[in-house]
Amino acid sequence: MDQTCYPFTLPPLPYAYDALLPGLDERTLHFHHDKHFAAYVENLNKLLEDQPALQAWPLERLCRDWACLPEHLRQGVRNNAGGVYNHDLYFRTLRPGLAATPAPALQEAIDRDFGGMEALKAAMKAAAMGQFGSGWAWLAADGQGGLLVVKTPNQDTVLPLCPLLCCDVWEHAYYLQYQNRRADYFEAWWRLADWTGVSQVYGRRFSHPFF
Ligand code: MN
Repeated sequence: MDQTCYPFTLPPLPYAYDALLPGLDERTLHFHHDKHFAAYVENLNKLLEDQPALQAWPLERLCRDWACLPEHLRQGVRNNAGGVYNHDLYFRTLRPGLAATPAPALQEAIDRDFGGMEALKAAMKAAAMGQFGSGWAWLAADGQGGLLVVKTPNQDTVLPLCPLLCCDVWEHAYYLQYQNRRADYFEAWWRLADWTGVSQVYGRRFSHPFF
């Protein structure tokens, strides 16, 4: 997200709507980005419009600290701030064209923590398939750069872990194109993952100039 606080605006899809074919089609991206993602942005703004103190909270803080909020705001902020945060990352970490590979620092961490790319993919797929109902499968990093695969229900984020890559397994992410075939959607999503961008995020956060 360009803006970190209220009022939030929907970031444009960072590529053309037909750029991810054949893995994700235009209809899916129009509904997912222009309707579902947009609704989380609108609903979050609506929740915060008469909450001046919360309007200064960055998105990450809303996602992390929703449990501290007054009861009437808690669940709405949890769902909608999470929805904004998660979808922003989801669309930013897909890329058109041929699949890239992780840069050396991230590849080393994948080898160390999973035993290689195929094992990471298997762990991500198990998380994506094992999330009962709506939710997300994630590649995330802990404070030291250690990698983990986790799943979250609904629009819960992985904060305070550092999210690197996320597979949206809500049916709205794939049903128009894949119907009930979540595994086929996962395979398409995996081929579209932007390892170049993910490597940059990982490198900025965890590589040390003196290593
Ligand atoms: Mn979604």
